[in-house]
Amino acid sequence: MSDKRSTFPLPLSSVTGGANRKPGAPAPVATPQTATRNASNAASTGTRASFAPAAPAPSPRPPGYAQAHQPSSPVAQRSELMASEAVRRAMVARVAKQGVKDGVVLGAMEAVPRHLFIEPALSAQAYIDASLPIGHNQTISQPYIVARMIEAMRASIAPGAQLGRVLEIGTGCGYQAAVLSFVAREVYSIERIKPLHELAKTNLRPLRISNLRLQYGDGMLGLPQVAPFDGIILAAAGLEVPRALLEQLAIGAHLVAPVGGQVQRLERITRTGKSEWASETLEACHFVPLRPGTV
Ligand code: SAH
Repeated sequence: MSDKRSTFPLPLSSVTGGANRKPGAPAPVATPQTATRNASNAASTGTRASFAPAAPAPSPRPPGYAQAHQPSSPVAQRSELMASEAVRRAMVARVAKQGVKDGVVLGAMEAVPRHLFIEPALSAQAYIDASLPIGHNQTISQPYIVARMIEAMRASIAPGAQLGRVLEIGTGCGYQAAVLSFVAREVYSIERIKPLHELAKTNLRPLRISNLRLQYGDGMLGLPQVAPFDGIILAAAGLEVPRALLEQLAIGAHLVAPVGGQVQRLERITRTGKSEWASETLEACHFVPLRPGTV
């Protein structure tokens, strides 16, 4: 694989810096879900806690993942950190209980401060196992499904090993992209809705993740200038997986995608040869739709 990072339009330097996280617009009452469950029916079982959007960077860290900023006082800093780490551990324990076994994925989920990706009004629900609205009729995916998809994409990787170059279609608020940055050497993520692309940049800036590139564009076209990818994840459901994405998968690599309309299934497609792909159905799911073009 040749490294063509220089062609990518968004170097990490453009998502680093000291800008504050902007509070999101009021959440829509109902949005399509990127999960089988949503906040309203999961809230009763979820862990409640209150967070300020300022947790220090967790460990383990991906290459270049640096602590970005400090809460106002050492006491506030310490209590925020302890509260957010404890509920994150509880979230990961629930994800593991639902069947995710890959320690690398669980470690990544434990490391990423999910509350930083959720608007302040909803941050108390950041660690429940549910999707939540992020504006523009889109959602942040349920923690379980994020972990499940990444685990499925890593299926052929030796235990503890790292994926090379991966592509995510549907950045949304940037949460899954941040998790991916812990399990792959290079992560590319495409979003078709400009304000969400901007939101993801704002959310990710304080985390200073150096192996993640964000792209505004139509993910159905993939990123041919960067391909092939050692893994591809779609965070939105099409009636079929776009051919361009299948072509951008490295031989032996996996693409994980929700497929369908009202009724959807999570599929894993493996490229088995130059012109051969094998597909398997993993489970039922419910994601927002994959749409063409940009807005
Ligand atoms: N990855 C997100 C999930 C976001 S929801 C997370 O971490 O929670 C799915 C996202 O896919 C939405 O933001 C939607 O705008 C985006 N999307 C849908 N079709 C797309 C396309 N063709 N290209 C890029 N993004 C797309």
